[in-house]
Amino acid sequence: MSILVTGGAGYIGIHTVAELIAHQEEVVVVDNLGLGHREAVQALNVPLYEVDIRDRDKMISIMKNHQVDTVVHFAAFSQVGESVRLPLKYYQNNVAGTTELLAAMVEAGVLRIVFSSTAATYGEPEATPIVESHPKHPTNPYGETKLAIERMLHWSAEAHGMQSVSLRYFNAAGAHPDLPIGEHHANESHLIPIVLQTALGLRQKVTVFGTDYPTQDGSCIRDYIHVMDLASAHRLAVQKLRSEHAGAVAYNLGIGKGYSVIEVIDTSRAVTKREIPVEWGTRREGDPAVLIASPDLAKQALHWSPTYLELSSIIASAWAWHLNHPNGYKS
Ligand code: UDP
Repeated sequence: MSILVTGGAGYIGIHTVAELIAHQEEVVVVDNLGLGHREAVQALNVPLYEVDIRDRDKMISIMKNHQVDTVVHFAAFSQVGESVRLPLKYYQNNVAGTTELLAAMVEAGVLRIVFSSTAATYGEPEATPIVESHPKHPTNPYGETKLAIERMLHWSAEAHGMQSVSLRYFNAAGAHPDLPIGEHHANESHLIPIVLQTALGLRQKVTVFGTDYPTQDGSCIRDYIHVMDLASAHRLAVQKLRSEHAGAVAYNLGIGKGYSVIEVIDTSRAVTKREIPVEWGTRREGDPAVLIASPDLAKQALHWSPTYLELSSIIASAWAWHLNHPNGYKS
């Protein structure tokens, strides 16, 4: 019995692989390495198939050869801004790719999947903290593709008995405390890596996208969750799928607490003891003012509890990675 992790060479994927193998699971990674890092998978010494999830025949043979019983599915494009410019690229990779993956799973008789979803499925929140039943009106194609996949999982449960847990992440951050894996994106757009690269002197300044939001300091508020806490939720979701038949369910993953962009920068200054120059910029299109999760359902249903509850500990974890790997996997 083994777990197939698609997109396992990516940021959240590789941390989940580390968590699974630390709990004695057999893991096999499928990644086309379009965005993922071979070095990350090599650091964990797990089998890697450089295969695209749209290659149905290869996916079926990998599932059969490794006696896969559950898939943890990360493989996707995930940049909000790019999805607005290139929506078809996102539909093609995320929606069409997952359609092929699910078809391969049905054909191979693998009927359990943990799906990497997102808070972007909700769109502009009507109430905070966000609960799972909150209306879903994504404000960008990225969120639309993830929501379309959640709906596909619902109908696949009805038709094929596919059991799924969709995990809607808020803002992932941090790195593994012991292993040489962490966050490395080719075109970094996320706040915490950008702030820490600025602390390292690799960037001149951080631009704060919007200072006129209706928040205490005018900048956006987000719920930052440590990547190892995301990873443990995926492991517990696999356990849940193996122990019961619940159809298609979805849970939020956040810590239930929000921090503003300015608080992230100030906390990073305190953690790194470095200068972090800032410039005040305009709003980034499609950014809601406040995104905070209610993680209660995940805690109850998965018996999960996040362990990094302070922004400073999440930033300290990310800083350790950036300090030791200033060029990510290239250093
Ligand atoms: N942000 C910012 N400057 C940057 C990158 C991000 O002010 O260079 C803000 C962004 O507008 C958002 C928050 O930081 O309010 C978190 O953005 P990120 O891209 O990390 O995650 P997202 O919330 O888009 O998933």
